[in-house]
Amino acid sequence: MGFRAVVVDKLEDGSTRARVRTLEEASLPEGDVTVRVEYSNLNYKDGLCLTSGGGLVKTYPHVPGIDFAGTVEQSSDPRYQPGDRVVLTGWRVGEIRWGGYAETARVMADWLVKLPEGLSTREAMAIGTAGFTAMLAIQALEDHGLAPGHGPVLVTGAAGGVGSVATAILAHLGHEVAAVTGRPDTEAYLRGLGARRIVAREELAETVKRPLESETWAGCVDAVGGAMLARVLGQMKYGASVAAVGLAGGAGLPASVVPFLLRGVNLLGIDSVLKPHADRVRAWDRLARDLPKATLEAMIQPATLSELPELGAAILKGQVKGRVVVDVR
Ligand code: NDP
Repeated sequence: MGFRAVVVDKLEDGSTRARVRTLEEASLPEGDVTVRVEYSNLNYKDGLCLTSGGGLVKTYPHVPGIDFAGTVEQSSDPRYQPGDRVVLTGWRVGEIRWGGYAETARVMADWLVKLPEGLSTREAMAIGTAGFTAMLAIQALEDHGLAPGHGPVLVTGAAGGVGSVATAILAHLGHEVAAVTGRPDTEAYLRGLGARRIVAREELAETVKRPLESETWAGCVDAVGGAMLARVLGQMKYGASVAAVGLAGGAGLPASVVPFLLRGVNLLGIDSVLKPHADRVRAWDRLARDLPKATLEAMIQPATLSELPELGAAILKGQVKGRVVVDVR
């Protein structure tokens, strides 16, 4: 039986074209579990894979979609039965492997996580890689001692996907969140997510002049990297940690080691793509519990498969706000 999918083809002139096509099940890649996809979403990487490929896609025709959630249709792995609700993020699915912009996906059982009770497939995709990564960052901070009452927690790139979910969860947990944004018009949105303070991007844009500034932040989820991360390190309280998640502001780190040596500051690396299964289960359980549903709903921008080629180009231009949730059914 055929299924609908967004397929990216490479054309003779070397350019690519994305459009919705009907594929035969025989064309699906090998895998242990076949999933009836219900929802997917849109990330920056999806924008690349829907357009030029950005060096991520190796073979065409390609089905993008780095995240999906749905119901198991068939499984040759004893851990999954037809009817199980599952979520997939990472493992380079949607990049080097066919992904979630399709009514049917076939993947390895090891890559899937069973959805916790109380989380719908739509909510899981509003969270997606961005929200999952935000949760991993918060758990890393907690594992290194962060607790409510320790002081303000900084979130950089706050109006983006990772930043929005990090802000909402931290606020819900009782932290005083300071949200860094370069878009002043997102202030109401960020306060709605629970941010108590808005910090203008320019305040942290200047490169490090003094390795230590006053001790301000009890923790930080950093989606920006670059000069901003370097500045933040010098503003952390004694023994506090920064979870380094992203590089929206640059991959370099023009920093001083002094905050590590004199204040015992920790820089924690966060990877969501190859995260082991047990850690994934732990993070999804926390997401089901600690992310208020109404706040998540406020981030959702609904979309369909046929809108994805256009949305893919838009996210690369920074024109997408909140979480695009794609109804694949
Ligand atoms: P978004 O594009 O949704 O958000 C990034 C945000 O960063 C923007 O909304 C903006 O926030 C801010 N920003 C953008 N450009 C700059 C700049 N030049 N200087 C300072 N701030 C800037 O991306 P995501 O939230 O989905 O991802 C954030 C980062 O995390 C990306 O670099 C992504 O690649 C990475 N990532 C890493 C993962 C991992 O496993 N480690 C997983 C997922 C994402 P505002 O408008 O509020 O200023």
